[in-house]
Amino acid sequence: MTQFVVVGAGLLGTSIAYRLAERGHSVTLVERDYPGAGTSGSSFAWTNSNEKTPYSYHLINALGMRAHRELENEFGACPWYHGGGAVEWRSNADEASELHERVERLTSWGYPAEWISEDRLRRLEPALRPGASGDAKIAYFPDEGWVDPSPYIEFFLGKARSLGVKLHRETVTGIDLKTDKVTGVRTAFGKAIGADVVVNCTGRWANDLGQDVRLTFPLAPTLGLLVVTAPAASGVRRVIRTSGVNFRPDGAGRIMLHSEYDEQRFTLESSRDETSPVAAVMIERAARLYPDLAGVKPEAMRLSHRAIPGDGVSAVGPVPEISGYYAAITHSGATLAPWLGRVVAAELAGDGPEEALQDFRPARFF
Ligand SMILES: Cc1cc2nc3c(=O)[nH]c(=O)nc-3n(C[C@H](O)[C@H](O)[C@H](O)COP(=O)(O)OP(=O)(O)OC[C@H]3O[C@@H](n4cnc5c(N)ncnc54)[C@H](O)[C@@H]3O)c2cc1C
Repeated sequence: MTQFVVVGAGLLGTSIAYRLAERGHSVTLVERDYPGAGTSGSSFAWTNSNEKTPYSYHLINALGMRAHRELENEFGACPWYHGGGAVEWRSNADEASELHERVERLTSWGYPAEWISEDRLRRLEPALRPGASGDAKIAYFPDEGWVDPSPYIEFFLGKARSLGVKLHRETVTGIDLKTDKVTGVRTAFGKAIGADVVVNCTGRWANDLGQDVRLTFPLAPTLGLLVVTAPAASGVRRVIRTSGVNFRPDGAGRIMLHSEYDEQRFTLESSRDETSPVAAVMIERAARLYPDLAGVKPEAMRLSHRAIPGDGVSAVGPVPEISGYYAAITHSGATLAPWLGRVVAAELAGDGPEEALQDFRPARFF
């Protein structure tokens, strides 16, 4: 039986650990903080393959979306998953033209995307202010949705534990090698955990596991700001994307908001005093669309780095030159997690390479 150490208990690490254990392998999961403490705990978590190019990257994200929906057939209720699609309209002319091209491209790729009337939009989102979309064309992407990452992680961790997976709450500080073969990991307490294969699922911290340059990936993390409101009866039902702000429900009446324009001015060290005025502006923009959001206060502002490999797409596969070292590092991990869990476990169990991952091998960086 192969011994695996999976480092990182986020969406990816818990999905992969469970699927490996399901195949009968011995798995140790090592997490330096609490499960979900990394990027997964501060994600917009929109399940989509909407703005993903090239086609190969679009395809794996579409497979991720399908894998989320299939979990219901496997496990029954999946309370962390919310379908219902996403709606989008753009008041800015350049953005409207980009949306037009995107809908054409997505339909030509067989991805569900359609133009809908204002009446249909109002049936989907009855709390939306009449006329809120103005003259803009309205796009609807019916297969999209979002996930609640922590309940997803809790579920997969629970399933993994029921199959004997142990979670060690320790920081991995080094990869143990015998010549060019992995023999395990070393933790901050000086403990060695033996393994035939180490799977690096530490996202944006992927380069912190050792000093060997052969284990280092080019990463290009960008900073994201998410705002979560206090609970409010706003009537927002699904993922809403507009020129000023994107938002969606976030449980118990809270709304999560994101604006790619506003986040660029911050760093991880930015204080609440700096982010609060921007949060208030983002909520105001949403309140122009959903009047019952007016006056709602931000409850949380989360700054975090996206785990993005240097060329912007996923890095999933064995690391060349070192035997027994496998990496799964990606943005879009909220979309990809259930699919990657399955296909990475299948590859590691010796089922052969997954064709859809061929463009995403870490080898391209070495
Ligand atoms: C603002 C923002 C918005 C996003 N929106 C979306 C979206 O809409 N849709 C989408 O699909 N994706 C989105 N993403 C991306 C998605 O959230 C990530 O791709 C995903 O969460 C990555 O999961 P992971 O398990 O790889 O990493 P993480 O969740 O970061 O997990 C890595 C874990 O490794 C642990 N760790 C790190 N170093 C060590 C060590 N040395 N020893 C032990 N443990 C260690 C960390 O504590 C962490 O728990 C977004 C990300 C951000 C930041």
